Amino acid sequence: MFFDYHTHSHYSFDGEEAAADMVAAASARGIEEICFTDHVDFDFPGRRHLPDFASRRRELEALGRRYPLMAIRHGAEVSLGDEACAEAAWAALRDVELDFVIGSVHVVDGVDVWADRYYEGQNKAEAYRRYLEAVARMLPAFPHFHVLGHYDFVAKYAPYPDRSVTLEDALDAFEEIFRFLIGNGKAMEINTASWQEDAPWGMDVLRRYRELGGEYVTVGSDTHGTERVGARIGEAMELARAAGIRYVAAFQNGEPRMHKL
Ligand SMILES: [Zn+2]
Ligand SMILES: [Zn+2]
Repeated sequence: MFFDYHTHSHYSFDGEEAAADMVAAASARGIEEICFTDHVDFDFPGRRHLPDFASRRRELEALGRRYPLMAIRHGAEVSLGDEACAEAAWAALRDVELDFVIGSVHVVDGVDVWADRYYEGQNKAEAYRRYLEAVARMLPAFPHFHVLGHYDFVAKYAPYPDRSVTLEDALDAFEEIFRFLIGNGKAMEINTASWQEDAPWGMDVLRRYRELGGEYVTVGSDTHGTERVGARIGEAMELARAAGIRYVAAFQNGEPRMHKL
């Protein structure tokens, strides 16, 4: 079993390559199931990133006929934010048929977390805690997602020599996040992009998630082109298994299908 449940094609505003090329790359790498989670962003005043879901559906269905051994799923990654952001996202998605929705935080206090400016004047502990507290705060506003995307997004572009995220960085916020997810039938994602070229992290985070009742995760590369399709998914599965997580999930029509780790 080899799934990539977080990928961006050219239907994302920042996607680099055609869905057809990405599916070809996935097929060559033995991926059994790929989910396209193109960006739906209303998380910043004036920002309105929305994929052409109708065109994407037609293209992905045609690709499905060309690659009958691979399951190709229709997903979205929705940026979480305030009530207005959640309302705009839901208005855009309400009538779109999707298999899977990721909810992710990309903007904190009006600043993009990938921008250098986010980290200015903050040490690692402050920057990480602020991000995770924002995640805990924003989750309830948009109840239409299935998994929390990249809880460690704050590490992806962080300027610190050791970028790793640990449970102790924000224990209270992590527990609040896990209680919300577990209590509302949602789950965590392991996103391999945050690691960049570093060793995997997150064992302590996943163990606590498990202790509080977390049963399953999804795994995704967060690739924006062909190069990283399926990248480090095996390591993510191994990490989840070692942390005691029982299942990795795939999704169809919003329903998780569990695969034992
Ligand atoms: Zn994201
Ligand atoms: Zn993404």
